[in-house]
Amino acid sequence: MNLGKRFYDLQQIDLDLEKKAEALSQVESQLSHNEALTEAKAEVERKRENLAGLEKKEITAEWVVDDLEAKAGPLQKKLYAGSVKNPKELMGLQQQVEQLKSQIREEEDKTLEIMSQIEALQKEVASRAAEVKKLEREWQKRREQLLAEQAELSSTIDIAGAKRSELAATIESAHLELYETLRARKQGQAVAGIEQGRCQGCRITLPVNELMRARMGEVVQCDSCGRILYLG
Ligand SMILES: [Zn+2]
Repeated sequence: MNLGKRFYDLQQIDLDLEKKAEALSQVESQLSHNEALTEAKAEVERKRENLAGLEKKEITAEWVVDDLEAKAGPLQKKLYAGSVKNPKELMGLQQQVEQLKSQIREEEDKTLEIMSQIEALQKEVASRAAEVKKLEREWQKRREQLLAEQAELSSTIDIAGAKRSELAATIESAHLELYETLRARKQGQAVAGIEQGRCQGCRITLPVNELMRARMGEVVQCDSCGRILYLG
C-alpha cells in the first residue's frame, strides 16, 4: 500500500478514535453522577429532618399539656369538693383553675397546629419519596444503557487502537513523527487528499512535480499548508 494511502488511513483511524474517546468520556461523565436524583434525595432527607423536628415539638407540647392538667386536676377537685368555704379563697381557687384551663386550651391549640404541620409534611415526604423511587427506576434503566454504550465504545476503541498500531508499524518513525507534528498543528488533519490537482487541505493548485511525486507514493508535503498529500 502506498505511503500516502497509509497516512490517509491512519488519519481516518485517529479521527475516529478521537470521536469515540470523546463519546466515551461523555458516557462516563453521565455515569458518574445524576444531579436530579441526588438533589431529590437530599430534598427528601431535609424534609425528613424537618419532620423529626416537628414530631419532637409535638411531644414537648403534649408534655406541657399533661403538666398543666396534672396541676389543674387536684385544684378542680378541691373546688368542687366543697371543702373550701372561705369566699375569698374560693374565688382565688376558681381563678387559678380558670387560668390553668385557658393555658391548657392554648397549648392544645399549639399541639393541633403542630400536628397539622406534621400531616402536611408527611404527605410531602411521601410524594417526594415516590418521585425519588421513580427517578431511581429511570436511572437504573439509563445506567444500563450507558454501561452498554461504554462497553461497546471501549471495545471499538480497542479494536481501532490495535489496527492503528498495526498500520503505524509499517511507517518509518521519522515519517510518523512528521505526521504527529502536523496532526497536533492542524487539528488532526495532517493528511490532505488531492482532487483536480488541488490540495484539499488549503485548496491551492499543486505544482506538477509535487503531483508526480505524490503519485509515485513519496511523502510530499503541500508547499502552502504543509500537509502530507495523498493522491487517492
Ligand atoms: Zn495544502
